[in-house]
Amino acid sequence: MIEIKDLHKSYSIGSNSLHVLKGINFSVAEGELVSIMGSSGSGKSTLLNILGMLDEADSGSYTLDGLPIKNLNEKIAARYRNKFLGFIFQSFNLISYKSALDNVALPLYYQGVNRKERIDIAMSYLEKVGLTKWASHLPNELSGGQKQRVAIARALASNPKVLLADEPTGALDTKTSYEVMDLIQGINDEGRTILVVTHEHDIAQMTKRIVNLKDGLIIDDTPVNQIRALSNV
Ligand code: ADP
Ligand code: MG
Repeated sequence: MIEIKDLHKSYSIGSNSLHVLKGINFSVAEGELVSIMGSSGSGKSTLLNILGMLDEADSGSYTLDGLPIKNLNEKIAARYRNKFLGFIFQSFNLISYKSALDNVALPLYYQGVNRKERIDIAMSYLEKVGLTKWASHLPNELSGGQKQRVAIARALASNPKVLLADEPTGALDTKTSYEVMDLIQGINDEGRTILVVTHEHDIAQMTKRIVNLKDGLIIDDTPVNQIRALSNV
């Protein structure tokens, strides 16, 4: 599903250059649930943003579902992003003046789905995350866990091949974090490929494989005996 080879990325800050990714190689097969770990500043978000086509590497190759991701114009990049990728962020990134339902329906608007169908599909995903009753509520009327559920429903609405989550539980308490991970595990059980950036070991143990980043390189890549998120509650 994902294949990257010798990926490099630097940021220039004034006249200095910060080499963040120093030759990353890895691949992710369909159906995997992978966590990317590493201390703050190790390049986790940079890597996820490149995988999510929100940013571009300086060199190396990236193939997504067999398609080489390189030098795409913004229109094609946007189409690929919409078709292949769903994003979940630590800070939810919901639109504050839109209801839960309209937030979930938004990606479908960009796909040209008509309003009636958008609402039906969005409602079905809100149901999947257990928020049917909250459809008409604004984000500020929802708890953190509920907001992240809306964000997950939104990420799923366009039926992407891969979900990319950057610290999805970073702003949530432990109990709520585990509930969100339970949802993520359930979505992966259905066969969806998911990458989760986290710096929390307990969260990483709920995935099936841990990739450790340090100083711009992968220093460890190990399968996990997955712990179910709600096994101790
Ligand atoms: P992580 O997500 O692992 O905490 P990041 O990928 O966000 O790490 O950042 C890696 C390094 O790159 C950090 O030192 C960060 O300050 C720097 N960095 C990230 N984004 C930018 C940017 N747009 N411009 C300059 N430096 C950046
Ligand atoms: Mg980060």
